[in-house]
Amino acid sequence: MQIPGSWPQKALGWGLGVCSVEQAPQTGLVHVEGQQKKKMPPRAAHSEGTETERPEGSFKDTCEHWPASGRGRIWWLDPELTYGNAKPFVFTQGHSVCNRSFFPCFDTPAVKCTYSAVVKAPSGVQVLMSATQSTYVEEEGVYRFHMEHPVPAYLVALVAGDLQPADIGPRSRVWAEPCLLPTATSKLSGAVEQWLSAAERLYGPYMWGRYDIVFLPPSFPIVAMENPCLTFIISSILESDEFLVIDVIHEVAHSWFGNAVTNATWEEMWLSEGLATYAQRRITTETYGAAFTCLETAFRLDALHRQMKLLGEDSPVSKLQVKLEPGVNPSHLMNLFTYEKGYCFVYYLSQLCGDPQRFDDFLRAYVEKYKFTSVVAQDLLDSFLSFFPELKEQSVDCRAGLEFERWLNATGPPLAEPDLSQGSSLTRPVEALFQLWTAEPLDQAAASASAIDISKWRTFQTALFLDRLLDGSPLPQEVVMRLSKCYSSLLDSMNAEIRIRWLQIVVRNDYYPDLHRVRRFLESQMSRMYTIPLYEDLCTGALKSFALEVFYQTQGRLHPNLRRTIQQILSQGLGPGAEPSAEQGGAGADSEVDPEAPALLLGDDAPGAAISLRDVNVSA
Ligand SMILES: [Zn+2]
Repeated sequence: MQIPGSWPQKALGWGLGVCSVEQAPQTGLVHVEGQQKKKMPPRAAHSEGTETERPEGSFKDTCEHWPASGRGRIWWLDPELTYGNAKPFVFTQGHSVCNRSFFPCFDTPAVKCTYSAVVKAPSGVQVLMSATQSTYVEEEGVYRFHMEHPVPAYLVALVAGDLQPADIGPRSRVWAEPCLLPTATSKLSGAVEQWLSAAERLYGPYMWGRYDIVFLPPSFPIVAMENPCLTFIISSILESDEFLVIDVIHEVAHSWFGNAVTNATWEEMWLSEGLATYAQRRITTETYGAAFTCLETAFRLDALHRQMKLLGEDSPVSKLQVKLEPGVNPSHLMNLFTYEKGYCFVYYLSQLCGDPQRFDDFLRAYVEKYKFTSVVAQDLLDSFLSFFPELKEQSVDCRAGLEFERWLNATGPPLAEPDLSQGSSLTRPVEALFQLWTAEPLDQAAASASAIDISKWRTFQTALFLDRLLDGSPLPQEVVMRLSKCYSSLLDSMNAEIRIRWLQIVVRNDYYPDLHRVRRFLESQMSRMYTIPLYEDLCTGALKSFALEVFYQTQGRLHPNLRRTIQQILSQGLGPGAEPSAEQGGAGADSEVDPEAPALLLGDDAPGAAISLRDVNVSA
């Protein structure tokens, strides 16, 4: 058995990695067996209106080793890369095609299986998986997991480390390192049950039993992953309350859209992401009101248009149905269009039926019909027209300019966008303040702007305001100087989602008096989402030597994969100004580049492939 380069020899003594599985007791780590329960007709079969039943059968196999040379998407973290610095940590990230390096599987979302796993771990190491059942025999140090519902391979997930639980609701608990547990608990206690209940009222019963959340160290390469029964989320987001809320609600929504009903092909990821984003916003509307939901939507659509500018209106990745070329990692086709153009299409469908509640009823029926299977877009659209025969009669799918086919296959912005006027009480002040800072003469406008207290604003308002300034950068030096005088200290005391935006403004405007804040931020942030955008901006501008200096001081505390990506940025100086290619178009649930990943999965491990949703300042 070979171990990853980043995994010290001593870690072998930790013991996770030796499992008493029957076929390969010396080398096995995880024993996975599955039963192919469900079938997904290929698209061609659909067009004929028939379903192709694949023979039911089972497979049983044993992982005889972790992936050769540690390649693949199993992330081994030395203790220094955790918060507690006490024990090593390991997690998997299967989305989208990485679990083939974890266990033998049909690594396609079209195939769903139940699974069982046996994991042996030393005392004191908690192992969790995305499963409905788990048992632990302490004397043997053996965990047994079983997922009773069929899931696609990418939703099989494992995490192990110094994790402790705390209940936050009748069917939910958080798992986190001990030093993080009180914060995680206080931020989510009671809330998750409220969101689950709201989702159940809208879309029917929650079908996965428990909804637990595990907080991962900053090395977790994405923000959150909707693993069934056990959402994975990065700890770095804990301080940014509103982002935490949205990210968790989004993953809750995936329980219905994505996990229960799954896109059968990676070319239609919008089916999961667009519907989950729509459901997430129905949940936030029910729970926090329309104004907040419209603000969050405006913030994201603003980012969508920013990404459009970066990619160009004719970019093939701005289609909902993207073309997956051989050898391309499907995750690299994910971008804000997958989420927000997908959302706009679903919202448009809801408008066609004239009443969001009737549309909720439709989605509930859709989930009931297709749960635990994988679908193509035509399934959704056929179901929609069957549920609303009056719309079918009116041929709404063929309305000039708004044809369903055009929604799916045209490049460019959404054909229609939602009415966000209910959020104007929150978005109007942002617009007004931005106008003041870009008005002439500056003296008068800046004085008026300075009189506006933004300290009580919602995070999404401040983030939207800063994104607008970032869009306009470089700004006149006089404006940057006054902005700094007015906001720098205040923003420095706010959460990381706000701080990074302000610091990007500092960097893009070469504003040296605030550079010490950039240094302090990079010294304290070890996650990809908060380091890569700043390094890219630093290297695009005149501050590359500053970036190098900070990197050499902090690199020892970065995960080797992140270290390598930053090294590539430093050596090539690629930044947001670079022309993004299709592969660079951004990513969502799997936006990182692991330079160790096999070429099969990632033939595109240039630093440009690391361009993520962060380029447009959103997480997903
Ligand atoms: Zn999602």
